[in-house]
Amino acid sequence: MKINEIFHSIQGEGRLTGLPTIFIRTTGCNLRCSYCDTTYAYEKGMTMTIAEILSNVKEYDCQDVCITGGEPLLQKDMPDLLHILVEKGYHCSIETNGSQDISFLKHRSHLMISLDLKCPSSGMHTMMKQTNLSELSSIDQLKCIIKTKVDYDYAKSILTAHDIACPIFFQPVWGSNPTKLAEWILTDGLRVHLGLQVHKILWGDRKGV
Ligand code: SF4
Repeated sequence: MKINEIFHSIQGEGRLTGLPTIFIRTTGCNLRCSYCDTTYAYEKGMTMTIAEILSNVKEYDCQDVCITGGEPLLQKDMPDLLHILVEKGYHCSIETNGSQDISFLKHRSHLMISLDLKCPSSGMHTMMKQTNLSELSSIDQLKCIIKTKVDYDYAKSILTAHDIACPIFFQPVWGSNPTKLAEWILTDGLRVHLGLQVHKILWGDRKGV
């Protein structure tokens, strides 16, 4: 499996925000979002066996693991890694960009799916696999990544068209105006969370946090 980095930090996004977490970032992504903050994960990294990944993870005194990317579901060994991590008692989450089928992750415990919904300003919204939305359960989360009012209206239309079973986060693209987003949410009375990227508030927009 190609790994870009493994590090220990604070979960900065979604329902587990604030929780100390080990991050396993895989290399490679099939999307090219206009605002991508992890371009370094497109290619750089090293090939590691599952045993090597586990031994790295074990170095940290932490039971929460977040698998991210890039796009982690492009790695063919990912189901095995998830299975072993869960079997070893880790509480796992996987952050996926919304373009890959997540149905094979059904019937799971101790694994939270964090599904992205890319909106028009990403340039990638037509790549979203919308059937994934019905695969989400109450232990998961949906993150709508929003930069503009067009993005906001698009995300709202998706929520209207689908019955989403999990908490929904409207997360402003870093550098866009979170206050505006908060005001749109309040004006429309949407039952969504405003999701800020706490790790970037703490340490800035940089690698390894
Ligand atoms: S899915 Fe994530 S890693 Fe891939 S291009 Fe978009 S923001 Fe970057």
